Amino acid sequence: MTDTLIKVDLTQAATENENVHNRWHPDIPMACWVKPGDDFILETYDWTGGAIKNDDDASDVRDVDLSTVHYLSGPVGVQGAEPGDLLVVDLLDIGAKADSLWGFNGFFSKQNGGGFLTDYFPSAQKSIWDFEGLFTKSRHIPGVRFAGLIHPGLIGCLPDPKLLANWNAREQELIDSNPTRVPPLANPPFAATAHLGKLTGAARDAAAATGARTVPPREHGGNCDIKDLSRGSKIFFPVYVAGAGLSVGDLHFSQGDGEITFCGAIEMAGWVHMKVELIKGGMAKYGIKNPIFKPSPIVPTYNNFLIFEGISVDDAGKQHYLDVNLAYQQACLNAIEYLKKFGYSGAQGYSLLGSAPVQGHISGVVDIPNACATLWLPTDIFEFDINPSAAGPTRYLDGSIDMPIAYDK
Ligand code: ZN
Repeated sequence: MTDTLIKVDLTQAATENENVHNRWHPDIPMACWVKPGDDFILETYDWTGGAIKNDDDASDVRDVDLSTVHYLSGPVGVQGAEPGDLLVVDLLDIGAKADSLWGFNGFFSKQNGGGFLTDYFPSAQKSIWDFEGLFTKSRHIPGVRFAGLIHPGLIGCLPDPKLLANWNAREQELIDSNPTRVPPLANPPFAATAHLGKLTGAARDAAAATGARTVPPREHGGNCDIKDLSRGSKIFFPVYVAGAGLSVGDLHFSQGDGEITFCGAIEMAGWVHMKVELIKGGMAKYGIKNPIFKPSPIVPTYNNFLIFEGISVDDAGKQHYLDVNLAYQQACLNAIEYLKKFGYSGAQGYSLLGSAPVQGHISGVVDIPNACATLWLPTDIFEFDINPSAAGPTRYLDGSIDMPIAYDK
């Protein structure tokens, strides 16, 4: 039987679990050790450690303390792993915890985290999604049901001291360019809410002062939020410290490309069954700076799409130069406007783009001055016909059901 090397108890605070951490630092002790060729299971909290509840009140999303996230299970030490190796991780399977067959999507208040479209949706809102085996649906967004493409939003190995110092320096330089911005440009180390696994005392305090926040993806992988890095994938991670120190968390039942809503995909507590191998000296052999991976052979087949285009011209009509970020925002806004014609609120449309198997593509980046991005909305997830026709849109929803909202205090 495969051993469950890290267990989490959803009735216990994540900060009381010494096999869980919420910062990246080379001094975090290994939670456990395995050998190349071993397969094992790690359980994880949802990324907030249970801060978001399965109810109809979004005040938990409004009030969440984002300095506490993400709660990761690990680090797992791999015997024989050395800096310069590649750690090969097979994601053999991933699932929700049996006592927690639901997930959440939402967007933060602009005052506390924001999101991709925070200027259009500045207040905290959430949708709850129930799992039926492979499938999910939401009481807050009727009319859709789809199969999950289950994946970890966050997985990676511990940085070495030099890499950690590099991260902190370059992100602080960015923050210093506009230190009062809301939301902030980046999140610097924050010792008060750092949880560093088994590390205690003076060693804990020293690591808490410089431990990197888990929000951005970095060279080691980390919070990449790639929906296609799903169960059945094989990932090749750069190794920076002896033992590698693999950690995982932020499990998603499903996510649209970009995880645009930030809180987040369909977030869940669950388990990951994985197997590890090593490629000695693999970083130099293959020229690897960032992880590479092979996708899963098991992917839900949603092959019919309505594709929305966006270009780098903002709502005021101002021309921007090859701005892919703006072009993708415009593609998303165009899709939301379309969904509203079928009775969805803007919030429901936004949440759906963050949680359903939506694809985002960078379509053109050379045709000056406009970048072109596309948002691929799968039409088969809808329980009614969402395609355009001469008859015009039929309103599937009457506005009586919407996502809970919590205004700033
Ligand atoms: Zn997430």
